[in-house]
Amino acid sequence: MKIDRAVFMDKLFKIYGEIDRVCRDSADYYGFSCNGCDDNCCRTVFYHYTVVESFALLEGFDKLPAEIRDESMRRGRDYLRDLDKQRGKEEELEMMCPLNYDGLCRIYEYRPLICRIHGFPGGLDHPVKGNQSFTGCGIFNKTFQKEWTHLIDRTPFYTRIANLEGRIRRELDYTTRFRKTIAEMLLERNLYDGRAPGVRDK
Ligand code: SF4
Repeated sequence: MKIDRAVFMDKLFKIYGEIDRVCRDSADYYGFSCNGCDDNCCRTVFYHYTVVESFALLEGFDKLPAEIRDESMRRGRDYLRDLDKQRGKEEELEMMCPLNYDGLCRIYEYRPLICRIHGFPGGLDHPVKGNQSFTGCGIFNKTFQKEWTHLIDRTPFYTRIANLEGRIRRELDYTTRFRKTIAEMLLERNLYDGRAPGVRDK
């Protein structure tokens, strides 16, 4: 089904803007900066759970120069080849995201929620899993030794994105579980983004 993606993207980017603001506040509060960090978060294997966020990521990806897109797809294939050998042990892996070039995200404005908020300590009141807490990234932990006096409540952001996801899924009539790395979003987009049906790009 054809949907008006721009409406969803507008709402999602408003939420992203608010997430970025609370992350900036947190960084200011602690005097914390990612600049010069060698322990790049983009080496963590993250899964992403929403179609709506993948559409944002793909919007950014489609704006990249063709040679970067081709190279990212090649990297994505390598990434998944390695990941497929290690499924279930993702937390032990360090694999650079295929969209990170020289330490920088090539789709920074379009990156998903977890890429934005992962570095900072916070909490989430999850409807199924209950209260969850997050420690922030390894460097944050090392620097502040669990002296967390400023926590980001992820609940309102997750709730709003979940609501948006529910709406876009209803409009798309999409019921399949979504759990993908960035590489899978790129290589499997033709399974879910309205293009011709197919399988993972080879
Ligand atoms: S999408 Fe961007 S910020 Fe997120 S892991 Fe990949 S390179 Fe890093």
